Amino acid sequence: MPPTSEALESIVISSKDLLVELCAISSASGELDGLRRVAARLGDELLARGFAVEVVEEADGKGASQPVLVARGSQARDRYRLLVGHMDTVLPAIPPRIEGDRLIATGGLDMKAGLAMFLGALDLLAARGQQLPQDLLLVVVPDEEVGGQVSENAVRRWGSGARAVLVLEPGERHGESETLVAGRRGMSEWRLEVAGKASHSGLAYWDGRSATAAAADWAAQAQALSERGAGVTVNVARLVGGDVDFVSNLAAHHDLLGSPRRRNVVSDRAVAEGEVRFLSNEDRERVLATLTSLAAKLAAAHGVTMRFEQGFSVPPVDPEGPGSALVEEAVALARARGWDLVVERDRGGISFPNYLEDPGRVPLVDGLGPVGEGMHTREEYVSLRSFGRRIVLLADLLEAM
Ligand SMILES: [Zn+2]
Repeated sequence: MPPTSEALESIVISSKDLLVELCAISSASGELDGLRRVAARLGDELLARGFAVEVVEEADGKGASQPVLVARGSQARDRYRLLVGHMDTVLPAIPPRIEGDRLIATGGLDMKAGLAMFLGALDLLAARGQQLPQDLLLVVVPDEEVGGQVSENAVRRWGSGARAVLVLEPGERHGESETLVAGRRGMSEWRLEVAGKASHSGLAYWDGRSATAAAADWAAQAQALSERGAGVTVNVARLVGGDVDFVSNLAAHHDLLGSPRRRNVVSDRAVAEGEVRFLSNEDRERVLATLTSLAAKLAAAHGVTMRFEQGFSVPPVDPEGPGSALVEEAVALARARGWDLVVERDRGGISFPNYLEDPGRVPLVDGLGPVGEGMHTREEYVSLRSFGRRIVLLADLLEAM
């Protein structure tokens, strides 16, 4: 039975009241008391809706332990629908206030609204006379805003048993409509080391082989591989060249910069470091192979040796991956309720989905939370209209899946 509009309205109001309460608790990353209070408050609400709730203390690798909220339905054993969120905020809280459609509140948009929305969606399902889905597992972490170890470990661990992943982070405004996130870039770090041959630039210039010139040539060509739109990007973040002493021990020799000393030496050492970003693993393989062969080609052309190494890597969420059907479903559900969801295929920044062992394995939808603006600032706000319709969207999606 569809709930009356009064019933929906009262669910949205009580969810908004809970959101205001959560935002009034200061829980900036590292504010352990506040984080524990948010976990406890959310835990009570989930317990009241039949979830088994645990607040697990996990070591953060820096000698402290931090709370992780884990709430599971009775059927969420080894295959579950995983919902993820975080309770930490960038700034400590100031008292929330409402102005028209805006709830101006620290961490409201990012992302306590996503957590309150989930509870609202459960209440809406109950008001529709539905049995609450028992295969849901909610994990709320305390250190996402600082790229923390607890978040990464928790998402990796709980992600391995998920049959779908719903990320409660906010969508974005897009004109009159709002977005949902289907794709997120992955990232691979790299390092290039170049060894040339030193010589006196006045007496024996042509005997030298400049490592700096070779590295700069490589860097310019590497960066030029970047493609606008959905393609790969290559960022040369650092390029250091000079004589071998200078490059290998910058701390001891930094005062050479700006001085006339050793300018007459053809550079025999250079190092470049950076990263590539990509939307699919094929793109990653392709760009890293091109960078490797570029190193071989330019080493020969410049008469130097070049060593190109790949480093730490996080996988992408491919917008064409197994989540695409679920994303389309969400778009259709919003349209059926009379509003438009636009799909973001290419969100930058490393976030929850990148922490999964293999985001290409499991259907995933990101950006389910309500929109607003001013994330991480004192002007941060959540649109209450968006909050209301996202509650309905999440309830519809949980029901349809
Ligand atoms: Zn966030």
